[in-house]
Amino acid sequence: MTEERVIWGKWNCSSCGVKGISAKPPEGEKSPRCPQCGSAREVGQNEEAYLDNARDETGKVLDAVVAETPEEVAIAKGGADWECSSCKATNRAREAACTSCGGTRSKDARELEAEPTPKKNSGATPQPQPKATPKKSSAAPIIFFLFALIVSILGYQWWGKRVNTITAKVASMKWQHVVSREAFSPTTLREWRTQLTEAAAKMPSDGRGEIAGIQNIRNCKDEHLKDERYACGVDTRCSNENVQVPDGQDCHKECKTKSNRNGSFTESCGQVCTPKYRSESRRKCEDVTKFCTRPIYAAKCDYDTYVWKPVETKKTEGSDSNNHSRLPWPDLKSGSLERITKTESYAVSIEYPFKKAIKTHLLVPKSEAEFLPYSVGQPVPIKMNNFGELTGF
Ligand SMILES: [Zn+2]
Ligand SMILES: [Zn+2]
Repeated sequence: MTEERVIWGKWNCSSCGVKGISAKPPEGEKSPRCPQCGSAREVGQNEEAYLDNARDETGKVLDAVVAETPEEVAIAKGGADWECSSCKATNRAREAACTSCGGTRSKDARELEAEPTPKKNSGATPQPQPKATPKKSSAAPIIFFLFALIVSILGYQWWGKRVNTITAKVASMKWQHVVSREAFSPTTLREWRTQLTEAAAKMPSDGRGEIAGIQNIRNCKDEHLKDERYACGVDTRCSNENVQVPDGQDCHKECKTKSNRNGSFTESCGQVCTPKYRSESRRKCEDVTKFCTRPIYAAKCDYDTYVWKPVETKKTEGSDSNNHSRLPWPDLKSGSLERITKTESYAVSIEYPFKKAIKTHLLVPKSEAEFLPYSVGQPVPIKMNNFGELTGF
């Protein structure tokens, strides 16, 4: 349901200064002219038509000069006026030649009066809005700063990881040889029944080939093995949630005006509706599987078996490798049902200068062969980066 009407605007004569001339064409009008000085309306000279009437709350123009006669309506709906390229006079759309100077309608005749922006309840002349000049971005200095920061961090990392070869010195050395005599001895252990399979033991010969065996499984008792999680029903969990439900619509009458670019404006008034919503609380429930835990028991039993137990331990150690081609081991002999185990450990502490201080680093040779070439006071070339981290030897 749209009500539409055509209304006439006003214009100002820039030649004689008369303001508020009605754009309503007088009867028999040839072309729009100033009633006082007779100069033709020239839109390029700030002579565009405007609406300065007051509006009601819907935007409807009050005290509007409505186009009534068939002639007026024909002009208003006839299309945009055009500007004579010779004398700049404004002519109606239906004119093929300029009514002021007789010049022919040129192809480049500008269609007149840019769309005015209709303002509700505003009597002001619709003026074209000055174009907002986009503000120059202020992000550039920040981006430059971040860039510089990243470059310096990367540069520092690059510098720090650069490796130099420097000379360290062996400060101290340590070695240890341990020999242990172990006996294959009977013992009683306890284990889960499921892990136990009866097996005969076999004694070692020359410290090898032994089988510990599992014998005499006894004293089985149920013990707590683990806790088991199992589904034990369903929990219904409910919560309230808010949902938006449609609740009719808000309607109001609204009027808009649009320039016909010939001194007239078309005003259309209609209902404008927006959907309305209301918040509704809904209860939402879901079933969630409930879990319980229960203890699981299993049998644990004693059983007889054999293990290697140390009976005697001897060690040799020293703090240098000077003049040794081999480092000595302690002398230990094994009897029947026995074996000998050997463990060796080596350490070389080196010192190197870093930032006017002396730093130390511990090398751990894996074998005697790796350890023997070192001696206290000996120079050792090492690779170190600018952060003081050792990267190679
Ligand atoms: Zn005038
Ligand atoms: Zn002309």
